[in-house]
Amino acid sequence: MSKSKIPFYKKVQEQPWLNPREKPYIHLENISKYFGDVAAVKNVNLSIYKSEFFSLLGPSGCGKTTLLRMLAGFERPTTGRIYIEGIDMTDVPPYDRPVNMMFQSYALFPHMNVEENIGFGLRQDGVPKNEIKNRVDQILELVKMSELGKRKPHQLSGGQRQRVALARSLVKRPKLLLLDEPLAALDRKLREHTQFELVNIQEKVDITSLMVTHDQEEAMTMSTRIAVMSEGQIVQTGTPTEIYEFPHTKFIADFIGTANMFEGVLVEEEPDHALIHSEEIDGDLYINHGVSVPIGSHVWVAVRPEKITIHKNEPKEKRNCAKGIVVEIAYLGDVSIYHLRLETGKIIMATVTNFNRITDQEMTWDDEVYLSWKPSSGVVLVT
Ligand code: ATP
Repeated sequence: MSKSKIPFYKKVQEQPWLNPREKPYIHLENISKYFGDVAAVKNVNLSIYKSEFFSLLGPSGCGKTTLLRMLAGFERPTTGRIYIEGIDMTDVPPYDRPVNMMFQSYALFPHMNVEENIGFGLRQDGVPKNEIKNRVDQILELVKMSELGKRKPHQLSGGQRQRVALARSLVKRPKLLLLDEPLAALDRKLREHTQFELVNIQEKVDITSLMVTHDQEEAMTMSTRIAVMSEGQIVQTGTPTEIYEFPHTKFIADFIGTANMFEGVLVEEEPDHALIHSEEIDGDLYINHGVSVPIGSHVWVAVRPEKITIHKNEPKEKRNCAKGIVVEIAYLGDVSIYHLRLETGKIIMATVTNFNRITDQEMTWDDEVYLSWKPSSGVVLVT
């Protein structure tokens, strides 16, 4: 079971996407891509701003890589235009775009050492020897690999190879770095460490980055903004917090983190609150935001497991409350995830932070407990 993680930092203090006068660095206009009958990308419109670390996130086959490849120039859009710094790049070949792509497999040359691998692109471009040496040295220092310049790829760990590949992408000073699942080959610990390193390095060289990933934790941790894709379309764009706290649809609430989903009928609707009756909890859910659908509409309320509190005694407030039995406890070290079965049969997940050692905890299997959550904890979804 995976833990949902709230983004723990935001890199860009100013948010250029909120400034109507700011010009996008990359602009995709009505981009579609068909492979025969297969619509890989459908009418995508997207603006990315300078210095952003932007992620395309979505399940396998949703069209992320195809979109990235169109930006790099390896695929031509069936319809639409691609602009970089306001210049139409749609018909410009890959080698003439100010773009570098780092692939899933690092594809380092096995017979060349680290320095030669990194300098390869510069030699191809005819850069003078001295300058190549300076730029390679600088970039090796940046990725903390100065000591390992003479090693061959097979003498490096996976994480070190990954840093060489990154150095090779950066040494040509592209304006736009495209990353296709850059950390996929690393184990969990190294991956988490490298996520920080990658973001720090990209900030130091002040580059704009676009990353493709299907790993929501990775996207949440690293990105200024995320576009969630499904079946060739962008279904929501926002900061990690916006996407996590205010998902627009059930698909997004489910795909990003974990959500308890309560099905119900809207019975009261005001600008500052909504009341939803749900047979699934045999009660009412009170939410402190209005919704834009008529009374009687079929809706869902998403509540994240960490927003649910477990009580031994019945709370006074009856709304946003349910009674259940502990049927499962998943101990994950820092937190435990409780599965609670309500009298209606509905299973609810609640995350409890383990302040004490697990043996000290009072709640256990088959205990009867009460659950509650705040009016601000739920989001009403209509699709
Ligand atoms: P993954 O995470 O698995 O890499 P993705 O989101 O990157 O998936 P794409 O590789 O962009 O998805 O593929 C989108 C759709 O387009 C898929 O249905 C895929 O099978 C199809 N597709 C991609 N490339 C081609 C191609 N060259 N010819 C035909 N169909 C293709």
